[in-house]
Amino acid sequence: MKYSKPRGTRDFLPGEMAARRYVEQMIRRVFIRFGYKEIATPTFEHLELITAKSGEDIVAHLYHFKDKGGRDLALRPELTAPVMRLYVNELQNSPKPLRLYYFGNCFRYERPQAGRYREFFQAGVELIGSSSPEAQAEVIALVNAVLEELGIREYELHIGNIGILRKILAENGIGEEVQAHIMGVIDKGDEAQLEEELNRLELPEEEKEVILGVLELKGRRGEVVERAEALLAGRESVLKELRSFEEILDALESFGVKNYHLNLGIARGLDYYTGMVFEVYAYKLGAEKQICGGGSYSLAEVFGGKPVATSGFAFGFDRLLLALEKEGVKLPDTERTLFMVIPMGRELVPYAIEVASLVRRSYVCELEVMRRKVKKALAYADAKGIPYVILVGEEIKEGKVLLKDMRAKEQREVNVEELESVLAAIAKGNP
Ligand code: AMP
Repeated sequence: MKYSKPRGTRDFLPGEMAARRYVEQMIRRVFIRFGYKEIATPTFEHLELITAKSGEDIVAHLYHFKDKGGRDLALRPELTAPVMRLYVNELQNSPKPLRLYYFGNCFRYERPQAGRYREFFQAGVELIGSSSPEAQAEVIALVNAVLEELGIREYELHIGNIGILRKILAENGIGEEVQAHIMGVIDKGDEAQLEEELNRLELPEEEKEVILGVLELKGRRGEVVERAEALLAGRESVLKELRSFEEILDALESFGVKNYHLNLGIARGLDYYTGMVFEVYAYKLGAEKQICGGGSYSLAEVFGGKPVATSGFAFGFDRLLLALEKEGVKLPDTERTLFMVIPMGRELVPYAIEVASLVRRSYVCELEVMRRKVKKALAYADAKGIPYVILVGEEIKEGKVLLKDMRAKEQREVNVEELESVLAAIAKGNP
């Protein structure tokens, strides 16, 4: 009997896995260049940690279970809560800021579709300990640097600020809990429900119009700020929020990031976001177009720590790969076999092993282990696209091998002592 993999999960085949690792390494390199240090947390956490951050509603979207000791556990649906738990437990007294990065699998019980899986991967960072405009701008600049490094061209970076909406709601006497609920409704994008909720709050018509008006503020900076100033005229504390938001944008522009859109309709659901929020969309991905989400938040206190300003984001790693594929970006196969060593008879196997070991000091090299006739082994090399074969025959006893170029269909004798420099020249021409 054959077994299928669980719904919403994937197997990654050779080649595909090499491409994934290649992209992962590129992302890591950029994170590291900005001074971020890697951390890792367990694959499962106490269920309470997840609900403390995201509320009870999230349970429907979790893989959760009781272990044999009766503890309620859940596979992590994301990594911000685990990272902040780790911070509160281990790093609260470390010098600030802390720049942490992670790469890991996450699990969500969702309806699978293109770009939406039940096991997927996130790569992200948290910058803990500063609420300065440049700290907040840094995480956005980092997202931009990663996308540039990867060579993704068709994406849009949308930056918003939920502080503005929260302020308007607060000035109408609406408490934080209801504010958070409203943010959740905005995040879902259900306009009818939003109207209903606002009506239920019995806000004056003018206030409702201002709120809905803010959500419509999308576009280039100059134009959005101008419209926001007109819409919010006379509301000093809200305008102050807009000014601090602009300081982040100024810093971001100093980082060289200018190709962003302002979008005050971004709410990002969860309660703990404080001000700046952002999302990146790759429209070619269709419905599941969001490849990155982040913002500034205050979460440590939820896990029993001292409040600390934090900014961070998570890339949907799988969606980055889909976006690269859709754009036709060719990723190199970093695991490609460049050489294959074939013994030309059983008694030559020990020599072939020695030659293969020599080649492997520097290059990817396969050894013929099927005891096939030379012709069959060569047919295998051909089928696998291995470009160079080293045939080990009787002449190895005089320190010589035959080097065969499979594409040019040429071969020549090479002294084993010279093999290293000959292979180096070949490798140089086959990056
Ligand atoms: P979130 O933690 O919901 O803000 O998600 C961060 C990023 O993870 C999103 O922008 C997506 O790119 C990615 N993501 C979220 N859920 C899934 C999923 N079920 N499958 C694949 N990627 C996902």
